[in-house]
Amino acid sequence: YVFGKKKATEVAHKVWERVVRKGDTVIDATCGNGYDTLKMLKMVADESQQGCVYGFDIQNDALEKTSSLLEQSVSPNEKELVKLFQICHSKMGEVLPEDTWMGLGSDSLGDFRLIAFNLGYLPGGDKTLITEPHTTLEALNVAKDILTPGGLISLVVYIGHPGGWQEWETVQEFASKLSVEKWICCKLQMLNRPMSPILIFLFKKY
Ligand code: SAM
Repeated sequence: YVFGKKKATEVAHKVWERVVRKGDTVIDATCGNGYDTLKMLKMVADESQQGCVYGFDIQNDALEKTSSLLEQSVSPNEKELVKLFQICHSKMGEVLPEDTWMGLGSDSLGDFRLIAFNLGYLPGGDKTLITEPHTTLEALNVAKDILTPGGLISLVVYIGHPGGWQEWETVQEFASKLSVEKWICCKLQMLNRPMSPILIFLFKKY
């Protein structure tokens, strides 16, 4: 069923559904047009207003698009569960409330069940404003520490645009070095569609 999905993001959403529960706190590290943010909100929103989605993008344009998509698609109460920040995702640790995580490194604790990256540029927007390998790597280093055990870091990595392949290599190297005891790291690549985005799923065991 998962492989019948046409778009890489739809495949990713199917995997998220197996991990994310109502009431969870999750992060969309690249809001863009807001489709992933909306999907996450639908997964976490519960009647008691417990779930929460933190969304990041460097572009105001993207956050406005996300915000208006949410306005059209969910109730005002549900929309309140989404907190958007116009900031590089490498700086997410600076704005996430202190009660959602504690410290970085091996002793860190975080509440986040899913941290998702959909890399590259804003579809329909400025194609020069793309995610960059060094900030993606910094963000991944924060994400791995604040992810809750049993949680998932999900990446959709595009290789067709200038700089895309380099970013892919950075992500691949990061994922390959995570400890076998603590992480399950998977790659999903369409072998007969070599330019299609590559999906990476990093499951934190404990
Ligand atoms: N998830 C989006 C959706 O569902 O529509 C698509 C995301 S789009 C492929 C990538 C987004 O990443 C762009 O909107 C871009 O502005 C944003 N971006 C680029 N560099 C970033 C950074 N350093 N931190 C956060 N967002 C960034």
